[in-house]
Amino acid sequence: MAPVVRFAPSPTGFLHIGNARPALFNALFARRTGGQFWLRLDDTDTARSTPEFAAAIEEDLRWLGIVPDGTFRQSERLAVYDAAAERLKAAGRLYPAYETPDELERRRRRQLGRGLPPVYDRAALKLTPEEKAALEAEGRRPHWRFRLDPGTVTWDDLVRGPCHVEADSLSDPVLIREDGSYLYTLPSVVDDAETGVTHVIRGEDHVTNTAVQIQIFSALGAPVPVFAHHNLLTTASGEGLSKRLGHLSLRGLRAAGYEPMAVAALAVLTGSAEAVRPVSDLDELAALVDLAHVSRAPAKFDEHELDGLNARLVHGLPCAAVADRLAALGVPPDRAEAFWEVVRANLTRVSDAAEWWRVVQGPLTPVTGETPDLLAVARQALPPEPWDSGTWKQVTDGVRTATGLKGKALFLPLRLALTGLDHGPDLAGLLPLIGRERALARLSGETA
Ligand code: GLU
Repeated sequence: MAPVVRFAPSPTGFLHIGNARPALFNALFARRTGGQFWLRLDDTDTARSTPEFAAAIEEDLRWLGIVPDGTFRQSERLAVYDAAAERLKAAGRLYPAYETPDELERRRRRQLGRGLPPVYDRAALKLTPEEKAALEAEGRRPHWRFRLDPGTVTWDDLVRGPCHVEADSLSDPVLIREDGSYLYTLPSVVDDAETGVTHVIRGEDHVTNTAVQIQIFSALGAPVPVFAHHNLLTTASGEGLSKRLGHLSLRGLRAAGYEPMAVAALAVLTGSAEAVRPVSDLDELAALVDLAHVSRAPAKFDEHELDGLNARLVHGLPCAAVADRLAALGVPPDRAEAFWEVVRANLTRVSDAAEWWRVVQGPLTPVTGETPDLLAVARQALPPEPWDSGTWKQVTDGVRTATGLKGKALFLPLRLALTGLDHGPDLAGLLPLIGRERALARLSGETA
């Protein structure tokens, strides 16, 4: 049977690189195994979920190259969750409780004060129908708790190996709030069961949920999927990445000009046994990602690695991969190939090519400093067009012979005059693109 996986973000913010991790682990797992990948929007929190964030999530996933086999929203499936809740109530696994948050907090403090674990004491299970009626007459509405079975919940985690959680150490989880809305726990199980999810791959912040959810799967008579809990990305200093880190949002990284495959490789290879390296597509990345090789230690993420990784990726891109972007910078199609070959090794981001196209195309103000004689000699040394990659050597040989200059004393003044900069791509490649007319003007100190 082909695996079925899902990525289940809440549309309450933009995806950041830390969320890209479960999205990719799932999508890559589906690719490796010929399985299906669903996008599920966990939007039962209607106060914080918005259609705009949902649309942004789909767009950001597309940018990473992730196209789900199907997408659905939990807000459209409330009747299905209601039916499951009724079944759990009928089986005595879902019970009403009436404590206010304040009452629960006071009880928790008392337990801690006595050195007891702060686990819900199930007082609500002992309420008589009359007591419940009295509480409701006071205007209280119940929230609903799932009655956990005692004992140890075990599973074989694809990342963490054999796992066990003592159910007695957990409070019976609230599945339905006072206002009748669902917390994430039950809808997730119902959806996973109904869509035939075979593997739940998600962050290790869900390990405790897993123990609870395994019991809910069983209570609903559904098969329990395989679980894999990957480590979470942290900052270099070990803090979690919060949604507020806007510059690490996928759209922020896209706007900053990073390649999606650099972001994807960094998102999933960080904290794994594989070295972080550039990849050309998700298939190549899928071949590198094995859940069994994901480390259990936090995945320390250094955003500065992104520049180096992006640069390595860009240096290897063929012109065809960037043709649209070069055209958008104004590079004519018949010059794109030559231009790209000359500049790509100097780029961190493809968008940096704009700077070099400006150097080619002008107008730029040459830096001529103290070297008018040398530049005059260079003007004389410019051969007639057509120019090619040998022209630069011809010019510099001519200037060397006439002036006796060599090395930096020869090359730097020429570069400053021709490009206005003291660094940049090989002039053998740039000069033919700049062309004779502009070169002559710049060597004369004119803006061109
Ligand atoms: N909406 C949950 C989250 O974003 C989904 C967790 C899961 O994959 O089950 O954390």
